[in-house]
Amino acid sequence: MKRSLAAVGSALLMGGLLAGVGATSAAAAPDPLSPSAHRAAVKAGAADAFALKASVKDADGTSHVRYTRTYEGLRVLGGDFVLHGTKDGALRQASVGLAAPLSLSTTPKRAAATASATAKAHFTGTVSAVGAPELVVDATSGTGTLAYETVVEGFGADGQTPSKLHVVTDANTGAVLSSWDTVETATGNSVYSGAVSINTTQVSTSSFSLKDAAHGNGTTCDMNNKTSGTCTLFTDADNVWGTGATSNRQSAAVDAHYGAAKTYDYYNSTFGRKGIFNNGTGVPSRVHYGNAYVNAFWDGSSMTYGDGSGNTRPLVSLDVAGHEMSHGVTERTANLTYSGESGGLNEATSDIFGTMVEFYAANSTDAGDYLVGEKININGNGKPLRYMYNPTLDGKGIGCWSSTTKNVDVHYSSGVGNHFFFNLAEGSGATAYGTSPLCGSATAVTGIGRTKAAAIWYRALSTYFTSSTNYKAARGYTLSAATDLYGRCGTEYKAVQKAWTAVNVTGTDAAC
Ligand SMILES: [Zn+2]
Repeated sequence: MKRSLAAVGSALLMGGLLAGVGATSAAAAPDPLSPSAHRAAVKAGAADAFALKASVKDADGTSHVRYTRTYEGLRVLGGDFVLHGTKDGALRQASVGLAAPLSLSTTPKRAAATASATAKAHFTGTVSAVGAPELVVDATSGTGTLAYETVVEGFGADGQTPSKLHVVTDANTGAVLSSWDTVETATGNSVYSGAVSINTTQVSTSSFSLKDAAHGNGTTCDMNNKTSGTCTLFTDADNVWGTGATSNRQSAAVDAHYGAAKTYDYYNSTFGRKGIFNNGTGVPSRVHYGNAYVNAFWDGSSMTYGDGSGNTRPLVSLDVAGHEMSHGVTERTANLTYSGESGGLNEATSDIFGTMVEFYAANSTDAGDYLVGEKININGNGKPLRYMYNPTLDGKGIGCWSSTTKNVDVHYSSGVGNHFFFNLAEGSGATAYGTSPLCGSATAVTGIGRTKAAAIWYRALSTYFTSSTNYKAARGYTLSAATDLYGRCGTEYKAVQKAWTAVNVTGTDAAC
C-alpha cells in the first residue's frame, strides 16, 4: 500500500517544471577478468574459490575487477583482490594481499562458544546482542590463520553511541586477533537539518556507503530522477556527505538517512519498538525519485522521496520522514483503512509521530513544532502543509468533527485527530506552538505534555485501534489506553475526554 504525504493534486505544482537534475551515466560493466586465468597472480590454492564483487571501467577502457575469496568454503578475511585489465582485456596488474597460497587445517581447536565469550568481553559499553561466531580464515596479515569472527552489538561507554563491533579470535589459541567497528559516525550536511551526525559503513580503505549498521542496516540510495530501475547506493571517499545545497546529490540523501535513523531511535527508545517493522531491520530510503516529483511515499517496505518543484525542494525533511515511516508502524499495528474516518486517523497518526520524531531529534535547525512539512515549501508559498493546532489554517483541513468528516480526503479529515492530539499535549487556547481554537461550546483543555499524549496514542494504536476505527471509537480506545497507562479518571484520562470534546468528538464514556 502506498501512503503519500499530501493529497494528490492539491500539492502538485504542474506548471513550469524544470528539467531533471542530470543523472550521472553509469559506466558499463567491463567483462570480468577471470581469476582462474591468473591463478599465480592471485595466489590461488586448490581449495580457493572466488566471487565477483564489483567492477569499474575507466574512461580509457582500463578495467578494475574486484573479487572475494573463500578457502574450503570459509570466508577469507584479507583474501580479496583486484584484477586490473587493459582495454583489450589483458591483465595489467593484480592487487593481492595474500603473500602465498593458503594451506591450513579448517578444524578449530576451540569451540565457537569460547569465541562468543571472548568477543563479548572485548566490547566496551553495553552489549545488546552477540551474533553467532563465523569460522573464517584470517589472512589480513598475508598468511592464513583459522579464526572466528563474532559481531557484538550494543552501545559504547557513553550509553548512546551505537556500536557494531566485529571481533576476530584465533580458532586454535583463543587470542583476539583484531576488532573493528562497522558503525562509522560521519558528518552529513543536510538540506533542512544543518550539519548532522549520521552512521555509515566503511566499504574499503577509501570508500564509505550510506548503510547504517546501527539502525538495522538501513540504506539510502539514488533513484537518479527515474521512477524505476536501479537505486544506486550512495558512496563517498572521505565520509563527509553533502554540502547542504540541493545541487549536491548527497545533501538530500543525508536528510533521508538522518530521518530514518531518528525515526528508528524514536520508536525504539520511546516504545521499545525495534524499528518500523519491530524486528531490528532498518528502512531503505530512495531519494531523487522521478522528475520534479512533489511527494514522498511509503510503499510497505521502503521510503521514497521526490525532489519537489523544479527538483530543488526535496521532500526529505525530518517530519516528512517520520510521517511516512509511521505509516509502516500503523500498517503493522492497527492497519487503519486508508479511507473515511479510519483513513483520517491513519494520517493523523503519521502527523503525530512525524512531529514527535522532530521533537525527539532536538535539532536546532529544524526544531520541534506542530507544523507538518514546514521546511519543504511544498506549495511554493513558504507555508506548511498542515497545522496541527488549527487544521483549518491550510484551507482544507478539518478542525472540528462533523458527520461529513468521513467524506473528505484523509489528509484533511486527519485534522480532527491532529487537533485532538495538540489539545491533549499542549492544551487549547494560546500556547508556545500556536493557538488552538475550541469547537462549539467545549471547555478549555489543559495539556498533559507530549510524552504522555504520545504514549496514549501509541498504546491505542498498537493495542485497541482496528482497521475500521472511527473518531468516536478512537475516543473510547484512547480512554482505554489512558486507563492502562495512568488509571481511570485520573488527570490524563480526564484530559483525553476534554481534548476529544474540544474537537467535537463525543462518546458514551461516563463523566468522572
Ligand atoms: Zn501520510
